[in-house]
Amino acid sequence: MDTKYIFITGGVASSLGKGIIAASIGKLLQDRGYRVTIQKFDPYINIDPGTLNPYEHGECYVTADGMETDLDLGHYERFTGIETTRDNSVTTGRIYQSVIERERRGDYLGKTIQVVPHITDEIKRRILLNATKQPLDFVITEIGGTIGDIESQPFIEAIRQLRWELGQQRALNIHLTYVPYLAAAGELKTKPTQTSVKQLQGLGIQPEILVLRTEHDLSEELRTKVAHFCNVDVTAVIQSQDLPSIYEVPVNMQRQGLDAIILRKMGMEPGETPEAGPWHDFLERRRHVKQEISIALVGKYDLQDAYKSITESLTHAGTYNGRKVKAIFVNSENITPENVAEQLKGMVGIVICPGFGQRGIEGKIIAAEFGRTHDVPTFGICLGMQMMVIEFARNVLHFPNANSSEMDGKTRYNVIDLMEEQKKITQLGGTMRLGAYDCELQEGSKAYHAFFPKAESQPSSFSHHIIKERHRHRYEFNNLYKSVYETHGMKCVGTNPKTGLVEIVEIPALRWYIGTQFHPEYSSTVLHPHPLFMSFIKACIDGTAEA
Ligand code: GLN
Repeated sequence: MDTKYIFITGGVASSLGKGIIAASIGKLLQDRGYRVTIQKFDPYINIDPGTLNPYEHGECYVTADGMETDLDLGHYERFTGIETTRDNSVTTGRIYQSVIERERRGDYLGKTIQVVPHITDEIKRRILLNATKQPLDFVITEIGGTIGDIESQPFIEAIRQLRWELGQQRALNIHLTYVPYLAAAGELKTKPTQTSVKQLQGLGIQPEILVLRTEHDLSEELRTKVAHFCNVDVTAVIQSQDLPSIYEVPVNMQRQGLDAIILRKMGMEPGETPEAGPWHDFLERRRHVKQEISIALVGKYDLQDAYKSITESLTHAGTYNGRKVKAIFVNSENITPENVAEQLKGMVGIVICPGFGQRGIEGKIIAAEFGRTHDVPTFGICLGMQMMVIEFARNVLHFPNANSSEMDGKTRYNVIDLMEEQKKITQLGGTMRLGAYDCELQEGSKAYHAFFPKAESQPSSFSHHIIKERHRHRYEFNNLYKSVYETHGMKCVGTNPKTGLVEIVEIPALRWYIGTQFHPEYSSTVLHPHPLFMSFIKACIDGTAEA
């Protein structure tokens, strides 16, 4: 199988949106009927981002097969709807780990282990791995970091070798750079791009395509200049301006012929441009949405990327419900019983965010109480759900100082407790309950209706009650308290059919008060918005004057 490989590197600065470009290319090739996967290679030494603070690289995304990964994998899935796996996220740490394990086993038979060839060989093996497990037409590999970083050098060397081994028609490099605008001079500057491409050439890689990130339109003259300086066709100098939505990027790339250029350069005939109707439909809806709703994101990370999948899920569901969702971050550390009404003023819904540790949890509990007592649609996710459970214990069940044993190991009322299988775990990396597990929904519950809105008219079958959702946690609803919660009005309406672990709680008497131990935000995509976010947004709209 002649799988083709597209490498995406970045220069000049980080945060240019390589992940969005990779996701857009994947989406455009997928629309042409090709089988595609997108993977990310990160040069840092951590085995995975699971132990990283979100302030470092933003949200930790979780694949269905339970790998903690870079948030770019979220973009890949949201754009293409294709599930990624543990093979789609690789770090320097993982590369070294496998080489060192092999060395310890004695597999290298007395050889000196070196960056070249041993580390680069392992990088190459991992780049090719996905296509050995499934038939793929294209593997898109995004290399994290910026050209010139010391730690990305082995990855660049591996790509150089692979390009040589695979040949021009099977391997192609797209380099993303930045064209700054100097306001004082009133000019766009291409020198950083030229320098960055020279650096790449110095490492033995001639990019075939350049994508230039810019805040202003690039003239034909500027693109020609870049093309000449960088040995690239003028038609292969693509501009990527700021757009109102990241989901406009594939359309913008296609308008400039990016997918057709890729195909031609790899010896393929592009043929007709596909219509991508549903995607355009989504964009059309987005462009025409006029009404805005504000939803509070109650969390402790005042950083845009920390709750990326949640804000994207809200956007998806908002768009399909004809609303632009303004997700307003409300720092839970600043919430007090006195100011909560003021802090949440004007919000038609509340999301209580996931997280770890003590910081900011009391504010989340206060927000949960506000949502419950004022009947504001409230969605608790993972730690957010746990905070709903604790709030209910303290204020409805009157269990003083009820808590999670994560926060208070000595609490008498450990309504959230460490899962049994977690008790013997000593290492923190990759040892949480991770990935997709079944959840059985209780018929008639609000959560059930969110997933199966027309279920009444369908013949009932067992599979209708089972959903699969992704997890990332160590603590869990304490089943010893289940009946007291249920008799007082908080129901456990989703449970794992094998273990009985509680996955969803809700208060049926309220308009929409649902907490999920799993993370629905990881599986919402542009074309398939998540049912719980859809029903949450509907409930939020129902509460507004314009509903
Ligand atoms: N800290 C909680 C736990 O480990 C919740 C984790 C989360 O929100 N992802 O169970």
